[in-house]
Amino acid sequence: MTSLYKGLDRRAVIWIVNWTFSGTVGCTAVAVLITYHYIAPFGPEVMATSMRLALYIPLLLAIPLFAFIGIKLQQLARANDLLTLASRYDGLTGCLSRAAFTSDVTAFAAEQDLKPFPATSALMVLDADHFKRINDQHGHLAGDEALVAIATEMRAAVGESGLIGRLGGEEFGVFVHEAHPETIGAMAERIRLAVAERGQAIASSADPVTVSIGVALFTYPVQYEDIFKVADDQLYLAKNTGRNRVCLVEYSRLPGGIRAMAAQLRDGLAGALTDAFTDHGDAPSRVAGR
Ligand code: GH3
Ligand code: MG
Ligand code: MG
Repeated sequence: MTSLYKGLDRRAVIWIVNWTFSGTVGCTAVAVLITYHYIAPFGPEVMATSMRLALYIPLLLAIPLFAFIGIKLQQLARANDLLTLASRYDGLTGCLSRAAFTSDVTAFAAEQDLKPFPATSALMVLDADHFKRINDQHGHLAGDEALVAIATEMRAAVGESGLIGRLGGEEFGVFVHEAHPETIGAMAERIRLAVAERGQAIASSADPVTVSIGVALFTYPVQYEDIFKVADDQLYLAKNTGRNRVCLVEYSRLPGGIRAMAAQLRDGLAGALTDAFTDHGDAPSRVAGR
């Protein structure tokens, strides 16, 4: 019987008790009502015996049955939660899985598309340098340790300001919700330096673990695939120009780039507000356009 309860917490046990109690009371009530309806004409003596049966039989059957089904339902719910966790997070580094990372960023972008003044965000694509060599020279366990260390340094640098995903193998993604041109390069540089410093301890000083980082700073509207390609191109630029470096580009689908777009939006709002408070007589009121 103990294996039935395995993995169930206090909240689940309370749920099972409530479910068993309600189910048993419900079944007993139905049995008593039906018995009363059909047995009433046969007199009080038959009625008393029938009522006892209408109480005991459901109690005998319903309690174990509802308890068993309740335990199974809770175990199923727990298995479901674990499966969701396993598919959402990478088992080695604790980062979001590629699918979860992509879906969270896409959802955030969809929200921003509806806002009159969307955020400026950044996507970083980060790849460990010559990682095959690290594995070949120091073993896969040391390689795994290095991946965990890279994820830890990314988390320390990004904190609550963004999402971190393992895109596959030794490649990671960082999405920063609200990024500024002045700070995003510094954040990427902080990750690069922290990994390089820690990488000395993991591998030999002659062959330390380092990362190359491509960064796309952008404003909305964008498609995830487009912005990923922009960041990925920057990553390849970093790889091709010596590795262990950060390459950053500002990207906007609108002409003039991010800063020009922000200025246009500000001017547009200022103009619209001025118009709204100016008496135009019978002229139709104007709505600020994006
Ligand atoms: P580059 O600087 O051009 O990125 O070179 P690289 O060697 O890092 O790139 P390549 O794609 O040739 O090799 C990636 C290596 O990453 C090969 C693979 O064994 C290793 N790798 C991928 N996932 C893991 C993992 O989970 N653990 C370990 N230890 N190694 C991994
Ligand atoms: Mg690599
Ligand atoms: Mg790679």
